[in-house]
Amino acid sequence: MSMPELIPVLSKNEIKKTVQNLGTTISSDYRNGQVVMIGVLKGAFIFMADLVRQLSIPVQTDFICASSYGNKTCSSGKVSFSKKIDIDIVDKDVILVEDIVDTGLTLVCLIEYVKSLGAKSVKICALIDKQERREIDIEIDYAGHSIEKGFLVGYGLDYAEDYRNLPEIFNLKL
Ligand code: 5GP
Repeated sequence: MSMPELIPVLSKNEIKKTVQNLGTTISSDYRNGQVVMIGVLKGAFIFMADLVRQLSIPVQTDFICASSYGNKTCSSGKVSFSKKIDIDIVDKDVILVEDIVDTGLTLVCLIEYVKSLGAKSVKICALIDKQERREIDIEIDYAGHSIEKGFLVGYGLDYAEDYRNLPEIFNLKL
């Protein structure tokens, strides 16, 4: 078996600048207010940790974990969460924090769930917007980088639970 190849996509510095810019934009958009950031586990854990430290507004944090489900439709009731939101988000401004948006199906279900809990507003922040396989026309309010295709690992992103700890982002070629 040949070794997987890791092709650099985003350096530490590029990621740092992107996260700083996202933090500045979000802090400006919500100035005089506060937000609840909900990170989507597991992939967003590192991005979320860096992003909240770039905010100059009050922020509450929580995480959610959507467990794997059959055909990925919200309405079929097949979406279940192995970690739900603990904090009260009624009438709060919520930002869902995703590592990468691919088909968009996960996010659509998460937005529906967060709205059903009574959030005042729900916006999306994703480090990477991957467009090739998008199935749902979803608006990503705060997107770090856009890429056409590839399978990315590092900075929280895994392949079979490996590589999450890498400080840069790579394209994994098996
Ligand atoms: P979606 O519902 O948008 O298709 O799926 C999004 C989720 O799929 C992401 O949160 C992530 O967990 C996973 N995913 C999609 N593309 C990639 C990728 O290029 N690399 C990794 N490691 N995970 C991905």
